Order: sequence, then C-alpha cells, then structure tokens
Amino acid sequence: MILAIASGKGGTGKTTVAVNLAKVFGLRVQLLDCDVEEPNDHLFLKSTPRGEEPVTIPVPQVDESLCDGCGECSRFCEYHAIVSFGNTALVFPEMCHGCGGCAKVCPKKAIRERGQRIGLVETMESGNVTLIQGRLDIGVAMSPPLIRAVKARLRKGVPAILDAPPGTSCPVIATLRGADFVVLVTEPTPFGFHDLRLAVDMVRELRIPFGVVVNRVGIGDDRVHVFCGNEDIPVLLEIPDDRRIAEAYSRGELVVEALPEYLAHFERLREAVRERTSTGFHDPARVATRISAPDTSTIQRR
Ligand code: SF4
Ligand code: SF4
Repeated sequence: MILAIASGKGGTGKTTVAVNLAKVFGLRVQLLDCDVEEPNDHLFLKSTPRGEEPVTIPVPQVDESLCDGCGECSRFCEYHAIVSFGNTALVFPEMCHGCGGCAKVCPKKAIRERGQRIGLVETMESGNVTLIQGRLDIGVAMSPPLIRAVKARLRKGVPAILDAPPGTSCPVIATLRGADFVVLVTEPTPFGFHDLRLAVDMVRELRIPFGVVVNRVGIGDDRVHVFCGNEDIPVLLEIPDDRRIAEAYSRGELVVEALPEYLAHFERLREAVRERTSTGFHDPARVATRISAPDTSTIQRR
C-alpha cells in the first residue's frame, strides 16, 4: 500500500498529517519525504541516521572533434538544454532532465554522458518508521529526478507514506504516480478551497482514489465542506483550529505525543485509509468508483 499526502498549497498541515499518521501506523512503515526542496519530516521524528547516497543524473558532454553542428540534438531537446552553435553544440546542464535522448539522435556519436550530482537520499530509523528523504542540492532546479530516486528506495511489501511537495506541478505528479490512495490536506479558507479544487482535478486526472483532511476547522467558511459534499468526496478527518497544535509544530513535536487527545483522530484516519486501500486500487474500474463518506461523528471540534 502506497499512500500519498498532498495539498494544493503549502502551509495546510500536510507534514503534520504525514508524520503523525506514520507514528500511529502501528506496523512498520516507510515515510518518504518527497518535498526535496525543503524536507522537514525529520524535524518531528527522533531518528537514527542509517546512511546517505548522492544522486546523479546523466547529462550530455559533446566531443567537439566529432560534432559537426548538425543541430539534431537541439531539435530533439524540448528543454532547450542543448543548443547547436556553428560547428558544435553547447550544453546547459542545469536545464537538462537527463533523458538521454540527444545522445541517441546524434548521427556522429559525438555525445557521451557524465553523472551530475543533484542531491542526496538520506535514510533514518525512528521506532516503527523508516524515513527516507531527498535533499536537493542548493542551486539545482530539477527535483523530479531526485523524487524518483527517493521512491526507488521503497521496499516492496512494507506500507509507505509519501509526503508530497505542495502544489500541483511536476514534482507533485512525480510523487503521486504509482500511489494507491491520496489524502489531500486543505483548510476551510478561500485559498484552501481554491487550491483544493486544483488538487482534486489533478488526482482525478491521475485516476487515483482520494479523500480529504480538513485542517484548522473553525476558521474561514464552509465552502470546502460544501464542495466535498457536492462532489461526493470523503472527508476522512477534521482537525480543529487549535493553537496548541501550532505550538507543538513550532517546537518540532508530534501532535499525537504533545497532545494525546489527538491520538484517536489520527488512528481514525489510519483506519479510514486502510479501509480504502485493502482492495485492488490499481484496477481502473475501481478507480472510477466513488467512496462513501466515513462516519465522522466522533471527531470533536473545539
Ligand atoms: S547532434 Fe551530435 S553532431 Fe549534431 S550538433 Fe548535436 S552533438 Fe553535434
Ligand atoms: S539528456 Fe535530454 S534533457 Fe538533457 S540535453 Fe539531452 S535531450 Fe535535453
């Protein structure tokens, strides 16, 4: 089972949901911090480092003695990372996605590839949680290859929680691909509502079943709840707007440890997710099926 935690915008509580859900998971679980530009799950888990590995992508290197400047490579590269000038070709490594296409189309076999480091994958242990996080090097703009490298460390047969970057762009898509279920975290504000709709469009396009966690309930308005009701989207958990949660977050503490009354909330979320991932979500016919809302009557609001 691969569960992804995502949100249409930053600051909604995605990390809070991911780390606390991992902590109450009960079983051994892998937590993958795919927010590689600023991984922060490790701040909430007292962990023991288990190692780190550099990640590289293959970028082209042009042998000027072979290149005749035909331009096949630059016509192929849709990222404009290689451009032919006169009798040679120039590479812009920071724009290269490492697809290897230019080397394949070069009629003169003038392109070789060299590994260019983009970041690190770090592994840590914290109780029942194996935390695997990507850390993009400063100045590197290309996060999807590092996210794929983080996901490549997933061990089959062990449940996994993927903490996605915020938003709905390429890094999020790279994270969500292959997930069995997505939890979209939002807040009941106009911004939260707007970005939730974008996120819902994204997961529907990817054909991944999903549910919503509404954080900071008590602020804003009811548009998120009305939208979820109208769209038949299950609200898996509501977390009240409780200042103590923000205080615990600012101290780097898990909510389920700092405020034990919230333990039952995250356990309910765990059960709601398990119910929805216990059968074959990879079956496209099932993906199209709507999921009925859970009983949220015992979730307390402040
Ligand atoms: S395709 Fe090969 S030969 Fe042609 S410009 Fe590019 S590197 Fe040079
Ligand atoms: S490897 Fe791919 S992305 Fe990089 S320069 Fe070649 S064609 Fe462009």
